[in-house]
Amino acid sequence: MRVWFAELLRRRPSVGIAALAALLLLSASLGHEGLRVPQMLLLALPGLIWLRWPVRSPPWRRLRLFGVAMLLGIFLLDGFLRAYLRQRYAAVPDSTLVLTAAANTSPREALEYLMAQGAQWWPGLLALLLALGLLLGLVRVASQQPPRPLGTGSRWLWLGLLLLCCVAHASKPWRRHHPVAFWPHWAVSVETLRMNWSDQSRQRELLLEQARASGVRALGAESSTVVLVLTDSVNRDNMSLYGYQRETTLQLQALSREEGARLLVLPHAWSVQATTVAALDGLFSFGGSMAAQPGSAAPAPGHILALARAAGYRVWWMSNHDDLAIEQQHAQLADTVEMINREPGRSSSMLDGELLDSLEEALADRAAPRKLIVLHLLGAHPHYRLRAPEALRPFEQGGDAVEREMQGQQRPVWLREQRQDYDAVIHYHDGVVAETLRKLKRHVPAGGEAAWMYLSDHGQEVGHSIDHAGHSPGTEAGYRIPAMLWRTPQAFAPGSGQQPFRADWTGWTLAELLRIEWPGMEPARNVLDPRYRWEAPQLPIGEVDFAR
Ligand SMILES: [Zn+2]
Repeated sequence: MRVWFAELLRRRPSVGIAALAALLLLSASLGHEGLRVPQMLLLALPGLIWLRWPVRSPPWRRLRLFGVAMLLGIFLLDGFLRAYLRQRYAAVPDSTLVLTAAANTSPREALEYLMAQGAQWWPGLLALLLALGLLLGLVRVASQQPPRPLGTGSRWLWLGLLLLCCVAHASKPWRRHHPVAFWPHWAVSVETLRMNWSDQSRQRELLLEQARASGVRALGAESSTVVLVLTDSVNRDNMSLYGYQRETTLQLQALSREEGARLLVLPHAWSVQATTVAALDGLFSFGGSMAAQPGSAAPAPGHILALARAAGYRVWWMSNHDDLAIEQQHAQLADTVEMINREPGRSSSMLDGELLDSLEEALADRAAPRKLIVLHLLGAHPHYRLRAPEALRPFEQGGDAVEREMQGQQRPVWLREQRQDYDAVIHYHDGVVAETLRKLKRHVPAGGEAAWMYLSDHGQEVGHSIDHAGHSPGTEAGYRIPAMLWRTPQAFAPGSGQQPFRADWTGWTLAELLRIEWPGMEPARNVLDPRYRWEAPQLPIGEVDFAR
């Protein structure tokens, strides 16, 4: 078979070149869409033309073999890499999602991530290696051909192709997608983003100045303590508080019964971003990137932490995350920053419960009458097994209703085990979150006010609708979050908070809990306000029933 094929390639070199073209077409159509596919093929054409060019001297032939293999190999790599990003994240390489993730990830973290996701990419890698092997073989045979003259017909054909190829390279919008131009430019974008983050002190100064100039003031009692518990990757569908069949959140349910109308569970809470950095950007800056909304006459509301400080709150930021972007964009706006975790990435094993002592200290601090304490937890962020103590595995036996349901949906064993681990994390998380509220209750300032808000930055898919465990921009589970509110002495009005809630409007609700006010507030976006008006966000997942 091999001999026959080699013989065929020797006698009809055009067959080898056609096979190479087919291989390139395949990889281009995996990674690109529409007209871009033929464009990519035209950009790769010089490699094929060079192969057909009669070359006599052996050194030149070796050079050609090397040059053509490199060039076409890069096109193949480009196609496969793009196909992977599209399939896993529904994203192109220069999307904010991918750029932010790349800028916010060290090489070590990237490696850890890839190791953990092995099952998802190794078939693709195998296919890529096979394709590269085939490509190399074809280029070798073709470049070893003795030079043979072209007939008149094929001479015109090759001349035409050469012309098309020149057109493709002359066009800037086409040339931009040439992998040799695209990927270095991509690397520069990632580096620029990283540099912007690493020096954001000027930006923070501006936010504080803007907040001071906004006319913000505190209305409530002389002393007030507000705790914001912001968690990561918690899907409300896995909390028994929200009706999940495994008893994952018994402590929060007990608190909910005890506190009655002081504690409000928002039944239909949604994030509008499926990843941390983008979610937090919206969450703290009233729906978007701290700048004025395009088309809006109102000035940008800025950053809720800056506003709280300008209104006289002392702000703490305590975190179990080690994340440059979040530290620079949000945490450093606080008066006191405490990062207990200096181990970046998914392999960090610091438990969220370690933050409780720091919370106790901040609550006991009597120096400031008005306090806002932000607790940023790792929650249920992958790897799930590192987010709860090893001994705490309450659902490991399986065999329950959840297990049966997943079996009925043909979910593979590894995914059902991931679900058990995930639910164990929610179970541990329940205790930590409930304890933050109990601590706050013990430290309500005498004659003062206190409030607490708990929510997740985004959800997590653990075999809810697809065979996948992790962040999920492409399914509802990536956006379904829990949200709870508590305050004293004023209880919540009966029936409030029953409409859907979106996390990028958190700032407006937090402003009410802080009892701060400034001109230009938007009560229609505060879920506690009688004037609240729900507007559905645009999520990249098609039709969504937000009241589900
Ligand atoms: Zn997150």
